[in-house]
Amino acid sequence: MALHPFFQTPKLGFGLMRLPKDADGAIDVEQVKDMVDLFLASGFTYFDTAYVYDGGQSEITAGKALVARHRRDSFTLATKVNARVSPSKEEAERQLLTSLERTGAEYFDYYLLHALGSGNAPKYAEYKLWDYVPRMKEKGLVRHWGFSFHDSPEMLEKLLSEHPDAEFVQLQINYADWESASVASRRNLEVARAHGKPVIVMEPVRGGALADPPRRVRDILTAAEPQASPASWAIRFAASQEGVMTVLSGMSSMAQMRDNVSFMKDFRPFSAGEAAVMENARQALLSVNSIPCTGCRYCTDGCPMQIRIPDIFTARNRDIIFGQTEAARSMYSRITRDSGAADQCVACGQCEGACPQKLPIIELLRQAAEAFA
Ligand code: SF4
Ligand code: SF4
Repeated sequence: MALHPFFQTPKLGFGLMRLPKDADGAIDVEQVKDMVDLFLASGFTYFDTAYVYDGGQSEITAGKALVARHRRDSFTLATKVNARVSPSKEEAERQLLTSLERTGAEYFDYYLLHALGSGNAPKYAEYKLWDYVPRMKEKGLVRHWGFSFHDSPEMLEKLLSEHPDAEFVQLQINYADWESASVASRRNLEVARAHGKPVIVMEPVRGGALADPPRRVRDILTAAEPQASPASWAIRFAASQEGVMTVLSGMSSMAQMRDNVSFMKDFRPFSAGEAAVMENARQALLSVNSIPCTGCRYCTDGCPMQIRIPDIFTARNRDIIFGQTEAARSMYSRITRDSGAADQCVACGQCEGACPQKLPIIELLRQAAEAFA
């Protein structure tokens, strides 16, 4: 499928969701500036933020590190409107103006309805955001619009049929989720392709997990190419798929930026041999029963018990994947010192409704409580 010339963007995008933090937990803006500069100097252009990332700090940092320091036509910037956090249609519409103020960008090259799925689609419809965003395009505040999506191929088919004017979609595509029932990377990509929509990839390293995969997966990748990082395999896998416009990598340090640009600067799609290695690694990963949490933190805001769900899952995975039981246990103690413990979950279900990965969080917390008792 030939992409529209506008969408022939370099294959690596900078996702601003997991920016580096300093010791106080604030975004390390100086480091982000260096990362932005290296990214642009390496020939890349696409930046992705969202109204809700880091409570608005991601957009503010995009303003300081990117917009204020570089010519507006030297980069493209994407952000997203989120109906879930807005109590009214008016407040949802106001997000665009707030995002423009925070970034100083004057317009957004790409504007997305955020994290569509069957749970929140009625809210996007109720607020008429499918009509509002194209109107903002007519006004020149948005150049192109689409939506990011976490749900089944059937739901994607429905949305793309109902909204054929959406110009692109953003999908979770990685080798761990390629055939999974809950994320269905391959099948969703096929639906987007059938509708002729360019695809922006999110979560290519699954919240960082594929940058540090289980030993048996790492061994397969290292044996095939000793110099290549596991992250490079994951990102190149996503970028090699037909119809993919760019792959967002949520880089959290200058070291990750250096690694990413090194293998994406002169991007070449997988050879048949590399695709076969990747398939072996994918099969090896399937045999490890870890918790597939991406660390997006959509689940934590409304938890009445202030349970740090993704952090508890990280501790659990340390035990499940690497067998580091004692390290996992002390990690869990640190996490729960000032926040809710796994056994304090009251099973209200708020988190499960917000989780794009559809994880059975209540049951997983019950298992964590048992394991760390
Ligand atoms: S189900 Fe448990 S973890 Fe989830 S929001 Fe409710 S109390 Fe928090
Ligand atoms: S449990 Fe789900 S919503 Fe929460 S951080 Fe993990 S993937 Fe995101």
